[in-house]
Amino acid sequence: MLSADFGNLNRDIEMVNTSNADWFHLDIMDGVYVPNISYGFPIVSHIHLNAKKPLDVHLMIVDPDRYFNEFKAAGANILTVHYEACTHLHRSVQRIKDLGMKVGVALNPHIPVSLLSEIIKDIDFVLIMSVNPGFGGQKFIENSIEKIERTKELIIAKQSNALIEVDGGVNVQNAKRIFNAGCNVLVAGNAIFNAEKPEAYIKELKEV
Ligand code: ZN
Repeated sequence: MLSADFGNLNRDIEMVNTSNADWFHLDIMDGVYVPNISYGFPIVSHIHLNAKKPLDVHLMIVDPDRYFNEFKAAGANILTVHYEACTHLHRSVQRIKDLGMKVGVALNPHIPVSLLSEIIKDIDFVLIMSVNPGFGGQKFIENSIEKIERTKELIIAKQSNALIEVDGGVNVQNAKRIFNAGCNVLVAGNAIFNAEKPEAYIKELKEV
């Protein structure tokens, strides 16, 4: 929803509701962990109240544990934290699960997948950042394809049920390759909201 038109938020929420998209992806940025600020609880709650699909909330914030309760109250179904934003990642993961949400761990482009080996069985999603977080509309980093493959290998080796989510620079041109590398969940923002027909674009993405 980072690329939605916030002056016409209800219209854009309704577009996602009626589209083939499976859920809403919300990027929360604090201006510290990433060089940008996005939006906070009132917007998350508003989307929750109008959304007919689950809310996947991606926290690009330092020390995210401070806000797990608030995001649960605002309607988050999935909470994703960044690997290096949590000093005690195992505890953070357990707390999110205890609050009744699914949990994801996000890896920036420079973070190796192997760092997840001890926690991969405890999490529901690995979110591979295929751009550096902070802004919509960036170009997909090609190395992400191999990284998705390595993530898949780790999941199989550790008999984890985690799904692989890919976020950043996803479009109909690269979606098939991303999917074939082992990705389960494609996140797209700019490509959809800048398309002439966003709903048709989502349909096209789902069909690659
Ligand atoms: Zn995201």
